[in-house]
Amino acid sequence: CGIFAYLNYQVPRTRREVFETLVKGLQRLEYRGYDSAGIAVDGPDKSGTDINSHTICLIKKAGKVKALDEELHKKDTLDLEAKLYTHFGIAHTRWATHGEPSAVNSHPHRSDKENEFVVIHNGIITNYKELKEYLIAKGYEFESETDTEVIPKLIKYVYDNRENDNVTFSTLVERVIPQLEGAFALVFKSCHFPGDAVSTRRGSPLLIGVRSEHELSTVDIPVQYNNGPLKEVVQERNSHNRPDCSDPIDSEGDGRAVEYYFASDASAIIEHTNKVLYLEDNDIAAVTEGKLSIHRLNRQAGDDPVRAIQTLQ
Ligand code: GLU
Repeated sequence: CGIFAYLNYQVPRTRREVFETLVKGLQRLEYRGYDSAGIAVDGPDKSGTDINSHTICLIKKAGKVKALDEELHKKDTLDLEAKLYTHFGIAHTRWATHGEPSAVNSHPHRSDKENEFVVIHNGIITNYKELKEYLIAKGYEFESETDTEVIPKLIKYVYDNRENDNVTFSTLVERVIPQLEGAFALVFKSCHFPGDAVSTRRGSPLLIGVRSEHELSTVDIPVQYNNGPLKEVVQERNSHNRPDCSDPIDSEGDGRAVEYYFASDASAIIEHTNKVLYLEDNDIAAVTEGKLSIHRLNRQAGDDPVRAIQTLQ
């Protein structure tokens, strides 16, 4: 029902601040109605350090966002004051379509007990039964009654069967979405791609807010097709202060700091930024090392070759 996700790239935030941003995003979406809520954030890694974590922590609760918020502050395994320099957190309010309202049926859903891939979903996957049967036959174990759970299982299946280790997060999603029927807005997080985000939609709305201290060098983002080069497309340029710096991205101390907000509704983004990009059906948006790019599977006649970053009034 409600999607909100927040990525800070080279913008130090405490886990407390990340939680607050995620919870506030969900609260802005509460008016749409929901029955449960959940989030996924990076957990402490195996050595117990909070920075550059490769584990994902899921916290889900039936009932109100307030109950989730209270639960977050009880998690004594998660250091609230830990500084997360680059971090991607996802959050969801659910309006159940398949499976009763409960903690296990609420989102994010996960690929496996290690939480390698986690997903939030708005909409309905109409062919989930066939996909579920297929995946169960392949040995994947399900824990919920939702239609959504096939999605994290499917991306793990694609990942487990990848041809090589150079596969990108967005390529994995590219392989998943042709299998899905129905309506969806999705945001994916993975411990294999820490700090990166992938998001896609078909039939359900999704927009991305961009906040940067610097002028955005690109307002029209070119669409990349899967056979085309994967070009980085949003980069910030501090052109006033560094006029002779030809490649600000690689220059030390340039401050590529940027924040992204993914939401099903502009009302959750507007307090952070008025620079937004609306995804179109079958767009795949990826943030990799702070850079946003838009991909599509196939070029079709009449395709708009760019997605504009607009200014909300
Ligand atoms: N169909 C999914 C479920 O029942 C998502 C519902 C929603 O949009 O909140 O979990």
